[in-house]
Amino acid sequence: MTERVLVLNAGSSSLKYRLLDGSTGAAEASGSVERIGESNGKLTHAVGGEDHTEERPIADFEDALRSALDAFDTHGPALDPGSLAAVGHRVVHGGDLFAEPVVVDDRLLETVEDLVPLAPLHNPANLEGLRVAMQLFPGVPQVAVFDTAFHQTMPEHAYTYAIPRAWREEHRIRRYGFHGTSYAFVSRRAAELLGRPLEDTNLVVLHLGNGASAAAVRGGRSIDTSMGLTPLEGLVMGTRSGDLDPAVHGHLHRELGWSLEEIDRALYRESGLLGLSGVNDFRELSERRAAGDAAASLAFDVYAYRVRKYVGAYYAALGELHAVVFTGGVGQHSPELRAAALDGLFRLGIVLDSSRNEARSSEARFVSAEGSAVAALVVPTDEEWEIARQALEVVRGS
Ligand code: ADP
Repeated sequence: MTERVLVLNAGSSSLKYRLLDGSTGAAEASGSVERIGESNGKLTHAVGGEDHTEERPIADFEDALRSALDAFDTHGPALDPGSLAAVGHRVVHGGDLFAEPVVVDDRLLETVEDLVPLAPLHNPANLEGLRVAMQLFPGVPQVAVFDTAFHQTMPEHAYTYAIPRAWREEHRIRRYGFHGTSYAFVSRRAAELLGRPLEDTNLVVLHLGNGASAAAVRGGRSIDTSMGLTPLEGLVMGTRSGDLDPAVHGHLHRELGWSLEEIDRALYRESGLLGLSGVNDFRELSERRAAGDAAASLAFDVYAYRVRKYVGAYYAALGELHAVVFTGGVGQHSPELRAAALDGLFRLGIVLDSSRNEARSSEARFVSAEGSAVAALVVPTDEEWEIARQALEVVRGS
């Protein structure tokens, strides 16, 4: 049976794709379509070490996916639907309905539609991607892999907010958590690196990308995570505030007369590192900090301190900890951040080795000192491979 999977990740105005072997992770081609619906659309198709780009207006998702398929026709490899084991889709919000990936049918589309109020920015785009792919690849199983699924193992006391019953029961307001495919991939890889069975491994995993979150993982299952009902809660992010006094909404509304939409927008798009320093890109922030920029320095400190607080909180939640694991663009590439986040935690048994921490590598590796009771690891994430792997598993099982 073929192991070839096409993975699609449809965002609000972009579509990313990768064609890969779900067993080995080997990619044949990948690409993205950006600025869908705008006049300056852009397609990039990478194959055989070369990038092919094309700029033209891309009307909608159907146009985007058709353009990607044209790029496969023109630049290769051939993408005959018969050669695909599955199309794997990233779906952001599965609510409390999906703890596993599922093969998509019309009924499932309706269910995902029902979840739109929980993820108004993401789920409509994911749905559109699913619908278009079902049309263009009839007969190929379409598998939805949910960002929230991994966290469905959280115990009730961890996912419950202290709010009135009606909000919880009728409006499904609770902690869901995101970045689940990344946590699944990284946890497995971390246990391999530690040489421990996953079932007997306790981890604090820090996914630090443009969006950022932390998770406490016991035996391969999430027991807590920092993102909540939405991906706004928790760590400081590129443009999102993370944790905030919930009374700030009311305060801004009363003091400035701002609408809820304006406040939401500011907390999602104008806060975080951007709000603190004027830049949302962590690499640029690090350069400014090194050059003595005080705002960049404060932003870095606020970011690192928030990460450190979550490490402590999740250590307490787990009781026993085998490793702190860094992943995502910032986690994988910023030794300064790793050092600042774990600074002074030797009493908790966490000791970095500075030369290991500073060594550049794209491999999964230890950055803790020999003899550190708790390991510190860097594990590059690969969400597309995880989606392909899970899609294959579902197709084989069905
Ligand atoms: P996404 O969440 O969009 O998948 P990534 O996981 O790629 O994002 O993370 C993007 C972040 O990683 C950006 O803030 C970027 O500046 C940061 N980053 C990438 N490389 C480095 C580096 N060498 N040093 C510091 N930060 C980096």
